[in-house]
Amino acid sequence: ASRALLRETWRDYSRAKKLPSAFVNELERECSLAQQVWATARKTNDFQFFLPNLERMVALKRREAEYLGYTDSPYNALLDTYEPGSTVAQLRPLFQTLRTELVRLLDLIRQSPVQPQISIMTQSYDTTKQMEFCRLVLKDMGYDFQRGRLDLSAHPFTTSFHPTDVRVTTRVFERDLPSCLFSSIHEGGHGLYEQGLPAAQYGTPLGEAISLGIHESQSRLWENSVGRSRPFWHYYYPKLQNLFPDQLSSVREEDFYLAINRVSPSFIRVEADELTYNLHIMLRFEIELDVIEGRLAVEDLPEAWNAKMKDYLGIVPTSDADGVLQDVHWSFGAFGYFPTYTLGNLYAAMFYRQARTELPDLEANIAGGQLLPLKNWVNERVHRWGRQYTSAELIQRVTGTALTPAPFLEQLTEKFSNLYQLPTSPSLT
Ligand code: ZN
Repeated sequence: ASRALLRETWRDYSRAKKLPSAFVNELERECSLAQQVWATARKTNDFQFFLPNLERMVALKRREAEYLGYTDSPYNALLDTYEPGSTVAQLRPLFQTLRTELVRLLDLIRQSPVQPQISIMTQSYDTTKQMEFCRLVLKDMGYDFQRGRLDLSAHPFTTSFHPTDVRVTTRVFERDLPSCLFSSIHEGGHGLYEQGLPAAQYGTPLGEAISLGIHESQSRLWENSVGRSRPFWHYYYPKLQNLFPDQLSSVREEDFYLAINRVSPSFIRVEADELTYNLHIMLRFEIELDVIEGRLAVEDLPEAWNAKMKDYLGIVPTSDADGVLQDVHWSFGAFGYFPTYTLGNLYAAMFYRQARTELPDLEANIAGGQLLPLKNWVNERVHRWGRQYTSAELIQRVTGTALTPAPFLEQLTEKFSNLYQLPTSPSLT
């Protein structure tokens, strides 16, 4: 443990030391300014208004990469901030495979005669009861309300002051049932990670999460592998029906299950489904890479954005507010951040598959409302180690293989082939 502590402390220290303080000040000033400008630009759908700030930000990030040092691509230096050890050389082929398969799966789904009834989800659902249900699920997941809270906020997030003081937030809309439900489960997964970190190592790197990708894997594991699964709803759907008899008593479990697993291309990343979400990420990764490596001018971003939307999702936003301006990330300099979302999905599927292998009753337990075996498994295999292992070491240690998109693609293919009655496609394995 002490060697890992030294490595991680050195990493934090040397990264911080490489950036001159004048540069850090300049970057911080531009970040706070750019965020305000971005908010106005998005509201008024005016990319030109944000352009000068974004150009300065890209120049600053390229300088940051030079200070930090890198091999092959300046983007690697930025990526390393959020996902230590990750490189363009690793992500490019990985995302390529993923994109080809996802686009293909999406095409099949779009041609399917089976389509969910979205109206199930947009009936009126009392928001207090929604929150009651979310608290129940979080409690069953093992989220400790003695050491944590669930509150409301405009954008759901998780924050931790100490493993004994973890706060997750969600949002709730009367006519959007999945929103509160899946935000709560998602943040609950982040919360479990924070509560599961070793308190004895608090204040040292060994008491911290490994990377954003691993953090996201913990939220996606619960949100998607568990929360959008059949066994989960086998147990929870009758409970939800009891809570909302007027809305759901005549809706079959099968139809509800299909509705929460709806796949449909949309403009906004944060509202995207489990499948198309990753296409939103790849678009951003490719664009960021081109901009940071100097192949794409910042002023040409809207055009590049829309072209990729058409290619990958088959739709083009009618405004930049719903396109290139939708995310806050670039305005605070978070280039290299987006890939961690998709890495989280890939890690999550790898962990879930391993948990199924090691816990043969896992899905039977989930179908019986027993979520603690999985919670204990991630506590033991992932959370308790803090930053003792790098993400590459951890995934190898837990699953016996290096990062691969295969389990994720298999999980999606299996689920959506059944749900949407897709023709079996032998290359989707
Ligand atoms: Zn998250």
